[in-house]
Amino acid sequence: MISKLRVEPGSAPQLARRDPAGRLDIPGKEEGKALLQPLVAELGVLQNRLAAEAARSVLLILQGLDASGKDGTIRNVLTGINPQCCRVVAFKEPTSTDLAHDYLWRVHAACPARGEIAIFNRSHYEDVVAVRAHRLQPAKVWRRRPQHICAFERLLSDEGTTIVKVFLHVSQNEQRRRLQERLDDPEKGWKLRQSDLDDHARYDELMAIYEDTIGATSTKWAPWHIVPADHNWVRNVAVARLLVDALRRLDPTLPPRPPGIADAKLA
Ligand code: AMP
Ligand code: MG
Repeated sequence: MISKLRVEPGSAPQLARRDPAGRLDIPGKEEGKALLQPLVAELGVLQNRLAAEAARSVLLILQGLDASGKDGTIRNVLTGINPQCCRVVAFKEPTSTDLAHDYLWRVHAACPARGEIAIFNRSHYEDVVAVRAHRLQPAKVWRRRPQHICAFERLLSDEGTTIVKVFLHVSQNEQRRRLQERLDDPEKGWKLRQSDLDDHARYDELMAIYEDTIGATSTKWAPWHIVPADHNWVRNVAVARLLVDALRRLDPTLPPRPPGIADAKLA
């Protein structure tokens, strides 16, 4: 499954050719739930080892259009993780302090410490995608950013951070259905902003920007994965598998018990 989701470095993601409603061979919702459970449990065990080892870290970057399911992924996939060794960072419009620095300043500060898993709900990719879509900076500024980002992620990777990048690929129809649901539901309406509705109308344009940006930033050290996101239960299993796979490959080792503890007996 994972190799099918991966964008090979140097190649285009070909978003238009990938089906947002793809099921990844999962027959239905119930089967999806059943597949997710053991993955969530394994994530908990592996995370405990990663924290105990305290040498390396994992960074999950979630990107996607509004209502593509970034919040839902975090809620459903990370339930087995100890909040003490994990940080979730949601990147919003930069503050005036953020803007007084280079665009990676706030991002670097939010990266995981050794032993931690960090989840970015949006990320430095907004500094290309949102900036380009909303014409916040001239082209010469956002055009050079993919190169900075590849170098920045290389630094993180060299220094012990495993980076898992996920684009939640939702169709325009499913996005419309979810935005309508938010409009209709008093519990969800607060999530909406006029810009979400405007961006929905510009779906094709945003996808073209993602096509470019993902193609320019899928690297050996930080490859992108395109996760079909029209079905929540497919998306959850796919992201959980990507995380479990990354942690299995790290294979964090528990430190030995301190001397004297191995054969100690309690009074
Ligand atoms: P949400 O994730 O729906 O709460 O919205 C956050 C908003 O902040 C989105 O519209 C993002 O595009 C925007 N945003 C996040 N980071 C940046 C950035 N670096 N530059 C411009 N807009 C951003
Ligand atoms: Mg929004």
